This record gives sequence, structure tokens and C-alpha cells, in this order.
Amino acid sequence: MGSADREIWFLTGSQGLYGEDTLRQVAEQSREVAGVLAESPELSLRVVWRPVLTSSDAIRRTILEANADDGCVGLIGWMHTFSPAKMWIQGLDALQKPFLHLHTQAHRDIPWSTIDMDFMNLNQAAHGDREFGFIQTRLGVARKTVAGHVSNPAVGRRVGAWARAAAGAAELRSLKLARFGDNMRDVAVTEGDKVEAELKFGVSVNTYGVNDLVDVVDAVDDTRIDKLVAEYEDLYDIAAELRSGGDRHGSLRYGARIEAGLREFLEEGGFGAFTTSFEDLGGLRQLPGLAVQRLMADGYGFGGEGDWKTSVLVRTTKAMAAGRPGGTSFMEDYTYHLEPGNEKSLGAHMLEVCPSITSQKPTIEVHPLSMGNREDPVRMRFIADPGEGIVVGLSDLGDRFRLTANDITLVEPDEALPRLPVACAVWQAHPSLVTAAEAWIIAGGPHHTVLTTAIGMEEFDDLAEMLSTELLHIDADTTPRTFLKELRWNQAYYRLAAGL
Ligand code: MN
Repeated sequence: MGSADREIWFLTGSQGLYGEDTLRQVAEQSREVAGVLAESPELSLRVVWRPVLTSSDAIRRTILEANADDGCVGLIGWMHTFSPAKMWIQGLDALQKPFLHLHTQAHRDIPWSTIDMDFMNLNQAAHGDREFGFIQTRLGVARKTVAGHVSNPAVGRRVGAWARAAAGAAELRSLKLARFGDNMRDVAVTEGDKVEAELKFGVSVNTYGVNDLVDVVDAVDDTRIDKLVAEYEDLYDIAAELRSGGDRHGSLRYGARIEAGLREFLEEGGFGAFTTSFEDLGGLRQLPGLAVQRLMADGYGFGGEGDWKTSVLVRTTKAMAAGRPGGTSFMEDYTYHLEPGNEKSLGAHMLEVCPSITSQKPTIEVHPLSMGNREDPVRMRFIADPGEGIVVGLSDLGDRFRLTANDITLVEPDEALPRLPVACAVWQAHPSLVTAAEAWIIAGGPHHTVLTTAIGMEEFDDLAEMLSTELLHIDADTTPRTFLKELRWNQAYYRLAAGL
């Protein structure tokens, strides 16, 4: 799951009319602009400057090269001078990578006392980028447009968000997901069109008999289990009954066995995401809890009950968030606190919440599952850190995929939760639990989500644009009335439109 080789190409447009001297300046200054972006702490990917483009043929060849280069996850384009945009038609028409139109200038300030016609002709993005914008709109190019001087931190942040989204889209393009068993029986929202998902997002979703995994789990040797148990002892507070010499130490060792086997299966198959189903455990003696939590913390996508769509979204979000503080977990809206004025959601799952969303030292415990017919599973238990976050869900509406997102503030629970045997997160939804829940439900948003404190809405907006996928955002300004209108407008838009 390495992303070290990923890069963004920086393209500069101009034209031959200005002569060699001007084009030399365009090249020098565009290198500097690309250099400022490359240095920005907001940019998680390398920025590669490409030679200035002045002809249709060069543009088309550069874009075809970008399409074919797995390392190139997106392109930034800027018109330093005026550049007649018909030369971009063939290239942009062939474009298959995410695109950002950077509307900037080499200079920040107008040199009032010295400005002359040469300066005006050289520094003409105000004109050239409008021409460039027109042709992108005319061709329906999905893109992000960012205006402002490249030295402005807000520009760096917005380009940085797009670059993270591009990294997520690239991850999605090559992602393989293993499902162990199928959906929880009779559940509707976890279903979906896997063929359409591969076409639209690139992810390949395939099912494996759970006993294929059991064979690998059963073959794990004791030394690997010893090593994992030692690691658990280092990192977590382990319940006394699970420690070496404790009555139920065998349960912890079996949890470690599942982790080792599952990790081996995923590594050997090149999978970045997976699902389990508590109805489909074959020869597994426990529902994987601790193992799933540990794998998610290492960056794997996960969805419970066969929910591959949420698993895909967990992995994509983790790829976008690489290196950022905060965390990302599979989540489920479980139960509410409906005290007027103090409404909260309690999110959790049967077991599988990722410890990246807490700074607490998790405890490892064993409790009955109260569902299914297996041994009591071991799991990590903790409470998510307070802070700002979002929850995002992916539904299949039959004619398209829809992302629904909600801004949330994670809070401490009102009181301790001594009898809750699983990890959890407590949050206040914006604009309020009531409006957020009503909007989410009329949007057909799923009960499984990705909860993240590492990635914001701008990255998700950019990702949705790259994937040409609907994204509804429930935020502080949402009202049920305007939200319902947005749903109806979108229903028409997505059935009529392709691209912008
Ligand atoms: Mn669930």
C-alpha cells in the first residue's frame, strides 16, 4: 500500500507568438511557481514541472503520457500568458487523470511604477486562464479551479486537499477488496453493483469462501502468535484473564492467530480492503474483532456484515489521510441520546472500531457477542477523542452511487460507560442531530459510515468531482427544506449530465 512514487505534473500553457525570450521567462517563472507548490507543507505528493506547452501536439502527447503513467495521479494546469485554447481540445478530450486549474500569476503585486507592455504580455493569466476555463467548461472537464497567488497559504491548502483526493482516487483505481462471505442476509443497503463500482471507481471486489481464510488461520505457527501476543502486551492494557497464565489466555492467542492469518491472506493477494460477516464464519472460532481493529489501524479498509462499499471508503479515506494527524474508522450509528438541547449519537460496532481515532491506550478484553454461535471474541475497547470530524457513507441508488457526509463534533460521553464492552465514539451532528438524521435518512444514507478526524470536506468534495459521483453534505447551514430541494435537483442533474 505504498504511495511514495505518486506525483502531480505541473503544466504551463503559453504560445509561440511571444518569441524565445518571453518563453524562456515563462519557463523560469513557471518552474518557480511549481517549486513554491512543491515546497508547501500542505502538499503530500511530489510536484513535477513539465516543459512549457505551446502546441496542440505537445499538449496531447503530454496528457497521453500522464494517462499511461501509474505514478502520475493528477495534473495541474496554468496559463502563464495568453494561450489560444483550441490547442487544448485534443489533449483535454483524452484526459483520464484528475485535473486542477491553478489560476495564479508569477508576480503577486503589480509593479505600478515600472509596468510596461512587455510585462503586460508576459503576465497575462487573467486573460489566458479565462480562455482555458472556457475550453474546459465547453468540453465538460471535471476539475477543481483554484485562484490566488501561489504564495498564499490558502492556495497551498486547497491544492493540497485536491492532491490528497487525487491520491485517494489513485488508490481506489488499483484497490482489490476481499470479501469473506456475503452480505448479512436480507440487508438492503449493504448491497451494490460491483461491476459498476469497478467501472466508476476502479476497485475490484471479490468474494472468498471464509474457509479459504480458515485454512491460512489454522496454519499459523505458534512463534508468530507468541510474537503478536508480546506486541499486544507492549501496546495495550490486557485484561488479567487474557494475559499469559490467565484463564482465557487461549482466547487472546486465537485472536492473534486470526490476525496473523488474515494479514497473510491480504498481503499475499495484494488486498487493501476486506469485509467479514458474522453470519458467515465457517471454521473461525471467533468473529474477528481485535484482528480487524489492528489491520484497520495499519491502513486496511474494512466493512462489517459484508459491507464492501464502506470498506472501500475506509481504505480510500485512509489513503487520502496518509501522514495527517487524527484517524479514520469504520463506524455505525448505534443509538442516540435525545435529551432536548443535548442530543448526541453513540457510534460503535459489534467489535470493529479502529484505534486510530483515539489517543487512549486501548484495553483488550473478551466478552460474549450476544449474536451468532461462536466463542467470545477478543476486542480492543476505547473511546474516540473529542474534536471535529465527519461521517461519510456510500449508497447505491440503482442508477448511481451517492456519497452522503455530515459534519460532526466528537465529544466526551456525558458519563463513564463501564458496561459497554466495545470501542465507541460519541458525537454531536451539525446542524443538529434531528436535522442531520432527517436529512441523512431522506438521502438514503447508510447506517455504516466512515468516521474521520483526519480529512475534511474539501478532500471529499474534490474526490467526488474526480469520480463524477454525487456528494451530499449536511453541515451547519443545512435545513430540511433546502436539502430536499437539493435531492430533487440532483436527481434531475445526475440523470441528465455527464461531467460538469
Ligand atoms: Mn453493522
